[in-house]
Amino acid sequence: MKALVAVVAGGAGMIGSSLCETLLRKGNEVICLDNLSTGRIGNVEPLFGNPRFHFIHHDVTCDLPDLPAPDRVFHLASPASPVGYSRLPIETMLANSEGTRRLIGLARGHGARFLFCSTSEVYGDPQVHPQTETYRGNVSPIGPRSTYDESKRYGEAMTMAYVRSYGLDGRIVRIFNTYGPYADAQDGRVVVNFIGQALRGEPMTIYGDGMQTRSLCYVADLVEGLIGVMEAERTRGEVVNLGNPDEHTVLEIAEIVRRLTHSTSRFIFTPPAVADDPRVRRPNIDKARSLVGWAPSTPLEVGLRVMIRAMGGEANGNGKAHDASAAHANGDMSNGHANGATMNGHANGATANGDMANGHANGDVANGHANGHANGHENGAASGESHNGAAFTHVPGSPGAGDPA
Ligand code: UDP
Repeated sequence: MKALVAVVAGGAGMIGSSLCETLLRKGNEVICLDNLSTGRIGNVEPLFGNPRFHFIHHDVTCDLPDLPAPDRVFHLASPASPVGYSRLPIETMLANSEGTRRLIGLARGHGARFLFCSTSEVYGDPQVHPQTETYRGNVSPIGPRSTYDESKRYGEAMTMAYVRSYGLDGRIVRIFNTYGPYADAQDGRVVVNFIGQALRGEPMTIYGDGMQTRSLCYVADLVEGLIGVMEAERTRGEVVNLGNPDEHTVLEIAEIVRRLTHSTSRFIFTPPAVADDPRVRRPNIDKARSLVGWAPSTPLEVGLRVMIRAMGGEANGNGKAHDASAAHANGDMSNGHANGATMNGHANGATANGDMANGHANGDVANGHANGHANGHENGAASGESHNGAAFTHVPGSPGAGDPA
């Protein structure tokens, strides 16, 4: 990938911030737009020192500020967890409709490539398993998940309309369940909930009977897929599933987390946080393999160990887990956490996986994440200061829309 200017809308989320970090590491200029409704400034604070990184606090449903001409526009700006989009239903619908239209306008105005990040939720409670891109889904247009499912479907339709009618160089990815450091501890997703509960010795909340399935992809793998789909010319006008086909029941995921954390937490079975919980979910990724040559490479237990360390725990396995509380005690939270916990943890895991090239990439990403985790999760005051202070970087010529007042 030659050096390009990339706009990442939703760049302060878990996936977006990892994408920003990876694009920067590959030598690109990155303009991150985020309204911080579910994204967190702590996720991108570690990138502020990079002169090729620019953060603009902006809501993509409003007029976009003047920006340098982008070569690539990634649209990840939407709440994405059931808890997040239930809290922000109208904002979610607008981000995927009006936000998509504005970002397509930006791409078209500069002849840039556009990537719309859709979701496996467009398949609803699927009657075809695993899900291929040709499956049209089983979605309730009025159900509790419909604000997300239907607005993502609308965003897909709008992207294709601009591809067909106006020659947009656009493509769509459907992202399946993804986890990794930088995940928001408050947004109720399964991996963060289970690890947090297991580390605190609290009951682990299994929704329903726990026999529903999910297939979990590590964030660094997912980000390589996003870039691969964006960079492949043959993905123009295509929709591509990105996720890890390694399928588990929720009960199995809980058991793996409990074992890796040495926890004695018990399981409690409760109703789902949001109704209409899909019974199964597993991507068919043949299209990503054939069009892009992409497949995930991080085994679930390797990724979970990184997460456990990032959340302050000691994952069993290689005996090198870092005590995050020691990093706090030495007064250097972000460095302590990054250098000790996640970097070591992930580098070890990836090497054990035998995939050195990927291990290097993952290690770098994990380093950025660990900083963000420390800042975002454990130092709310630091986040607030940055938000009002000089830590924001601005694009030259930008009116600075969304500047803190
Ligand atoms: N889940 C669970 N306990 C939790 C959080 C989630 O059993 O504390 C289940 C949830 O019902 C779903 C799966 O884990 O079947 C994944 O939920 P998540 O919110 O992470 O994402 P979703 O796949 O629903 O978008």
